[in-house]
Amino acid sequence: MLWRVPVDLKQILAQGRHYPWPRPDNCLRCHNWHVWGHGYVQRYFDGFTGVILMKCYRCPSCGCVITLRPDSHFPRIRSSVQTIRSHLHHRLTQGCWSSSVLLRSRLRHWLANLRCQIQAHLTNYWRFGLLVGFEELLRSDLIPVARVN
Ligand SMILES: [Zn+2]
Repeated sequence: MLWRVPVDLKQILAQGRHYPWPRPDNCLRCHNWHVWGHGYVQRYFDGFTGVILMKCYRCPSCGCVITLRPDSHFPRIRSSVQTIRSHLHHRLTQGCWSSSVLLRSRLRHWLANLRCQIQAHLTNYWRFGLLVGFEELLRSDLIPVARVN
């Protein structure tokens, strides 16, 4: 289970295992009163070379493993929400992608997924524009650029 928290990736990289990660007050699944530290997992993020360690906790009651994730990023996507928003904004207002180190194929993938997400979760007749749709999906706690299952 992922727990998105406000953390600073640069500080996590600098401090490594000494970074003061937040700890959930109780298990996010079964609400057990306590969770134990459960090591770290390695994750990649755009703008950083090498891996960054993400803290994990484990619930002794239900066995749930809680992996922390910066709230600046969606699950399973290396680019930050702000980076994604900025690229989509440029494409949809200027008609072309901004210059970027990111692969065009990934940018096009985000745009295609955004269209599918809007169709799947908002309406087939969405007429407020894709950028408004992006924010609306965010408000609904959905990932606007994730592949629709
Ligand atoms: Zn639990």
